[in-house]
Amino acid sequence: MPAFWDQDICKQENAMNIEKEIEKAVQILANARNAVASCGAGISAESGIATFRDPGGVWDRLNPAEVGTTDGLIGTLTKNPAKLMPVFVELLDALAKAEPNPAHIALYELEKMGILKTVITQNIDNLHHEAGNSDIIEVHGNGFRLKCVSCGFIEARQRRQLIKEAKTKIGAMTDFSIDSIITLMPKCPKCGSFMRPDVVMFGETVKDIPRAFEAANTCDVLLAVGTSGVVYPAAYLPYEAKNSGARVIVVNPNENAFSEVSDAYIPMKAGEAMPKILDMVKKFQSSKVIH
Ligand code: NAD
Ligand code: ZN
Repeated sequence: MPAFWDQDICKQENAMNIEKEIEKAVQILANARNAVASCGAGISAESGIATFRDPGGVWDRLNPAEVGTTDGLIGTLTKNPAKLMPVFVELLDALAKAEPNPAHIALYELEKMGILKTVITQNIDNLHHEAGNSDIIEVHGNGFRLKCVSCGFIEARQRRQLIKEAKTKIGAMTDFSIDSIITLMPKCPKCGSFMRPDVVMFGETVKDIPRAFEAANTCDVLLAVGTSGVVYPAAYLPYEAKNSGARVIVVNPNENAFSEVSDAYIPMKAGEAMPKILDMVKKFQSSKVIH
């Protein structure tokens, strides 16, 4: 048999396996009443925001040790601004252009249908809020919420406006001395000190973890979307859910980081898989309605 026939058969088998996994996921979700989504950078990839670890991602271009901690970031910005500033400005532009994609919107639709209760996210991009979900646990914080470094005052800011202000200040900078860089940080309206994005840098305490674990422990389904499963403690959540009796569904085009505990694995992009699953859940539920 010619080799290309084998390849065709392989492709068909793959497609059939994916369909079977989607059907499993649909049956699991259609019967859920207390599902939790645990999301990583992959869910926002189709909104134009690069993940950290994928090829071409942020860690291919920057060294996490140089930019992942507050001290490292300030040090790199002052010592080597030419390396950091273009990537930083590119990230700001991507964050300014991003919109919730069909995967974020599908999670909101699942909430409206009474299936999904909580979104736990490692993302700091605010897109789950903008999609409309009401219970969101942001374990790594939110890049558009500012926190005063002195008094702790917290202020949520509008995403595009905050980026516009930062880019105007960067455009006006004549050097990248520590004094100029500090002018990028907005002032606290309460005490006049500096405010920084309320995000978790390496070495800082992850946020709201007891509530995230409580949600994973009490859910009936955990849907892991676009997460590499290498960032802890968020990577424990699918194991926690499974140990407490929940079913686990994984959506990730490249890898199933939770293969030991997954009941269904859909190797597709979140923005393609999630609306398809949502549509099938709707059809599944309407076919069960007794007329
Ligand atoms: P990661 O960068 O380590 O891995 C991303 C995962 O997404 C990979 O497993 C990849 O296979 C998968 N993926 C890529 N494209 C996808 C798609 N279209 N649909 C579904 N999955 C896709 O991300 P992580 O495990 O979430 O950990 C990243 C850390 O980086 C977190 O701490 C997070 O705070 C931060 N981060 C956040 C953002 C954001 O806010 N959007 C972006 C980059 C990184
Ligand atoms: Zn203050």
